[in-house]
This record gives sequence, structure tokens and C-alpha cells, in this order.
Amino acid sequence: MPATAPLTPVNHDRDSSGMTYVYPVVSRRAGGVSLGINLNPNNACNWACVYCQVPDLMRGAAPEIDLAQLESELRAMLTNILHGDFMQTRVPEGGRRLNDIALSGNGEPTSARAFPHVIELIGRVMADFGLAGRIKLVLITNGSLIDRPRVQDGLRKMAALNGEVWFKFDSATASGMRTINQTRISPDKQFERLTLAARLCPTWLQTCVFALDGAPPSDAEQTAYLAAVTRIRQQRIPLQGVLLYGLARPSMQPQASRLSALPADWLAAFAEKIRAAGLSVKVSS
Ligand code: SF4
Repeated sequence: MPATAPLTPVNHDRDSSGMTYVYPVVSRRAGGVSLGINLNPNNACNWACVYCQVPDLMRGAAPEIDLAQLESELRAMLTNILHGDFMQTRVPEGGRRLNDIALSGNGEPTSARAFPHVIELIGRVMADFGLAGRIKLVLITNGSLIDRPRVQDGLRKMAALNGEVWFKFDSATASGMRTINQTRISPDKQFERLTLAARLCPTWLQTCVFALDGAPPSDAEQTAYLAAVTRIRQQRIPLQGVLLYGLARPSMQPQASRLSALPADWLAAFAEKIRAAGLSVKVSS
């Protein structure tokens, strides 16, 4: 795709900016531009979710991050968005506002060893562009590394920058996590990490629901999920709520042909059950 192609809500190509770490996205969900930071240009993640949209996904961690290059890319892109012709030439009318900076790349961003330094760097650049407190900083994470001190350090720094964590939580059972996320992590351990995240930085659960081989999540899966929501309420874990997604874009994984979107009324009914269990829900089908 040429670097000058207009961005559309379906054009999330990480290469659209021609940069290594920084890519702009017009977000249909947020109604504006989100500036993505990709700390995994090697397409490496410690999970392998069946719905993952990363092409050529491989198991692994983020590579060493070139902080000087990241900073210069971020400054160049923000200059173009805020003071250049980016909005006029690349963004359809109606979406010409910068909503957030999102650490959301082709793998798990917290696997970057420099993660807390990256947050510091983003904070410094946001301050220089007058964006501190004016736009959100979002971390989209599978949460599996939040028990590491350097990740917690990064989350504390995010909290000071109007940050939000979107914590992946597709299933509350070991078998569901094995099937959907292809990880052997124990749900209890993951719940502990969720608790840690929520106590360090405002945190949303991010849940993707879909049909697998034509079947929606089983009654047992739904019951386990709702029990986790009840536990969150009972233990007064300060979660912001649930971001409930359907399949918005095609999976790039070998299981893609087995997945299909659920009807909007299925999502609406599940959202009601989550609300009844005590958490607010934003649905995006
Ligand atoms: S955690 Fe995110 S990047 Fe990793 S496999 Fe799942 S969807 Fe893809």
C-alpha cells in the first residue's frame, strides 16, 4: 500500500506510515485517529490467539527497542498530525481528531525489556506536544507479564499519564484459554495479574467473543466468565468495566476458517448478563 493512501477504518496496516514503531489508525470504535506504537515489529507474542490479526505471528518476545528511533518517529508523526497536512490528506472528514496513543502492536508490548523506558519517553513527548492530560495513553496487553517488576513500573508511569490498560480476558477457564489464546497459563494466576494491573492503573477487561466451528461460547464458559465478574465485584477490584468485542476483522491465524462472528443480539444478551453480575460494558460488534 502506498504511504499516502487514505486511512480508513479497515486500514490498520502497521506499515502504512513507513515507520518501524509508529503507525496511525483511524478507529471506527473511537471515531478519530489513534497513534499506534508497535514494540513487536518482529511479529512475536508469547500467546497465539486464534483470532489474532497479526500476519506471520510467531512465539517470542519483543526485540531490543531502539529508543532514539522510536522517539524520532513519534515526534515526526505527531508533528505531521498536529501541525502538518496529515489529517487533511489521510483521514476522512469526521475522524480528524487525535484520540489516543496506543501501545498495540504485532505482539505483546510488555515483553519489551525497555517497556518502562518507553512509557517515560512517550510521557516526555506528550508533554512537549501539549498532549499530557488531553489524550489517553492506552496499553493493549494480554496481561501475562504484569507480575514482572519492570512491567509494574511501566503501569505506575502510565497511571500518571492518564493511562488505561486494556487487559485481555476472553475466557476464565484453563481449557478456554488453551483453545482461544493457546496459552497454558492458569486462570487463577491470570486473575492475580488482573488484580495487580487494576490496582496500579485504570484497567478495562477486553473480551472477544465469537463462534468456533459454528458454536458460541458454551454455557460452562459463560458461567465461569460471569463468576469471575462476580469475584471482581466481591473483592472490590477497581475495574473500569468490560470492552466486549465481536470479530471485527479477519483472523490471520491457521484457525481463521473455524471462526465466525456472533449475531449482535448474542453480544447484547451476554453484555446484559455481565451488567447483571456487576460490571459496566461497552459493546463493539
Ligand atoms: S495476545 Fe494479542 S498479539 Fe498476542 S496472539 Fe493474542 S491477539 Fe495476537
